Amino acid sequence: MDNPYRLRLPGPTTVPKRVRQALAQPVVNHRGPEFSAVVRDIETRLQPIMGTKNAVLLFAASGTGMMEASLANTMVPGDKALFICNGQFADRFAAIAEGLGLDADRLEVAWGDAVDPSKLKAQLTESDYRAVIAIHNESSTGAVSDLETIGAIVRDTPALLIVDSVSGLGGIEMKQDRWNVDILVSASQKALMCPPGLGLVSVSEKAWRIIQSDAPRARFYWDFRKARDNAVDGQTAFTPAVSLGFGLQEALHMIDEEGLGTVLERHERLAAALQAGAGALGLPVFTRSPIRSNTVTVLQLPVGKDAGPIVRHLYEKYGTVIAGARNKLGGTVIRFGTMGYIDETDIITDLMHLEGALDDLGWKTEPGAAVAAAKEALRAA
Ligand SMILES: *Cc1c(COP(=O)(O)O)cnc(C)c1O
Repeated sequence: MDNPYRLRLPGPTTVPKRVRQALAQPVVNHRGPEFSAVVRDIETRLQPIMGTKNAVLLFAASGTGMMEASLANTMVPGDKALFICNGQFADRFAAIAEGLGLDADRLEVAWGDAVDPSKLKAQLTESDYRAVIAIHNESSTGAVSDLETIGAIVRDTPALLIVDSVSGLGGIEMKQDRWNVDILVSASQKALMCPPGLGLVSVSEKAWRIIQSDAPRARFYWDFRKARDNAVDGQTAFTPAVSLGFGLQEALHMIDEEGLGTVLERHERLAAALQAGAGALGLPVFTRSPIRSNTVTVLQLPVGKDAGPIVRHLYEKYGTVIAGARNKLGGTVIRFGTMGYIDETDIITDLMHLEGALDDLGWKTEPGAAVAAAKEALRAA
């Protein structure tokens, strides 16, 4: 028990030892052959995870940087974009757009739900949108978007489909090309098992046509054109996060060794087990079935119960670090990451700790019921 600290957030997530060792390698020349081999290997291994044949561009950035970059490369102040708003990260995306002087229309959707395709279709006939923005996996609510349906709607319009899959990629299926996603952004610190700090993006031909035009867009560091020109040589436009590159390469090797299909199934099985166990403790999943995330589990607390003491107690007594909410759900839900480097033992431990914390706080729980329900779900899967 040398480290009782259990990072069970919806990101950042636990970094496996193999990745930590890769991070510790000496820094090399970012324009030399050693590092361009790393950049190329990362691209080759990310493409199937993203479901794309596009180039994959790397930036030293958090996920939010990539969200901003996707807008800065495709729009100018006054351009209109439609944000499918079903949670905190969609709201953040719209706020970024407003910060850039764009005209952000919000298609409001109940939190925990996903957009009604007919409403999206109708809204797209209302106005001349340059882009539609969707969150693949809304980490604030645990809702997954039907990108295949959204993509089929947006494909037939001049608008681009820009998707944030920061908390989805590597944990739930992503088929960028098949689903007609024009710009896909993600980051290193969620299901990709790395520390925060590396952003990634891939761009469709439809989007390149707009990005390449000479419109006076406010972009320099974020310029995807420079990034692509350098990516041809296995480089980045500016000094990359070299150490994180080593880490991501190792994490992608781990995913390939396990097999992408097996990785995605593991996420599904473990999320279902945690959700079954929580249900036995009287904590239902916040998100409507069947759009529940396999990477973020959001649990609804009974009316009158506060998330704060649960989150605090889990950390202070058990060393298990989970999240509440920093938005309008604040106090009413607790959130676990079920992504990246986790196995059955992690889920069983989560539930033992959660049951223990609730007991300590005076809830009435049935001893062992959560673990039993999780084991049952694991057996059935
Ligand atoms: C974590 C996350 C982000 C990125 O947040 P950063 O803190 O900027 O890395 C963006 N979108 C979603 C859905 C996320 O879960």
